[in-house]
Amino acid sequence: MPTYVVMLGAPGAGKGTQAALLSERLGLPHISSGDIFRENIKNHTELGSLATGYMNKGELVPDDVTIAMIRERLGRPDCAPGAVLDGFPRTPAQAAALAEMLAGLGGKVDVVPYIKVEEQELVRRLTGRWTCRAEGHIFHAVFNPPRQAGVCDHDGSELYQREDDQAETVTNRIRVYLEQTAPLIAHYRAAGVMREIDGNQPIETVTAALLAVLPPAASSEAP
Ligand code: ADP
Ligand code: AMP
Repeated sequence: MPTYVVMLGAPGAGKGTQAALLSERLGLPHISSGDIFRENIKNHTELGSLATGYMNKGELVPDDVTIAMIRERLGRPDCAPGAVLDGFPRTPAQAAALAEMLAGLGGKVDVVPYIKVEEQELVRRLTGRWTCRAEGHIFHAVFNPPRQAGVCDHDGSELYQREDDQAETVTNRIRVYLEQTAPLIAHYRAAGVMREIDGNQPIETVTAALLAVLPPAASSEAP
């Protein structure tokens, strides 16, 4: 049976940081909807030009487009053993579509770690975030600085500050999260798969807490 982990939490909670670490530990692909959109923008695709206006305003890209993009990604052979999803689903319609997609792949949403962080801290994290141009590796000016300022530790590429990490856009993204995505917490709690994680702890402590809530089959894959 494949293992699907869905990372839930507000923008800046640490989903991307933790999904990358879990993906490495579990040997499962890390699927970040935001990274796929940004890759499309970088490559000047039609999907990228559609997404960019929504992203720069901190709004969600429409469900139909986002769902089709994730359906295609999850259907690729590297997802056969499962995946760590980061940033998808973000609406009840996306959650329903995900359940249907995974059923078609012989799986289900196995566990939904919900990384909880208060709003003031989210703003500090997002406005200090530095992202790698090549692969989307994530750093923070104070909380997780790169070895050399402006340079990615992993691939040496340039680090940049995302357009949507500016303070005004951050406020809108948190509002959009509370309105459209936060209802998924109750949805997955009712389904018995939600696990709350205290995100106000150092990165390594959060990772340890996450590994502790993964299904045994998934965590035993860890080296
Ligand atoms: P998300 O994917 O949920 O939007 P990120 O993983 O990109 O969040 O993290 C947002 C910012 O906060 C990044 O700059 C990251 O380095 C930093 N960060 C992540 N986890 C922690 C943590 N536990 N403590 C402090 N800073 C963190
Ligand atoms: P993220 O990288 O997760 O912070 O996402 C950046 C932006 O990409 C969001 O503010 C949205 O505009 C868009 N986006 C990412 N994932 C989704 C999704 N599942 N549904 C709609 N829009 C999304």
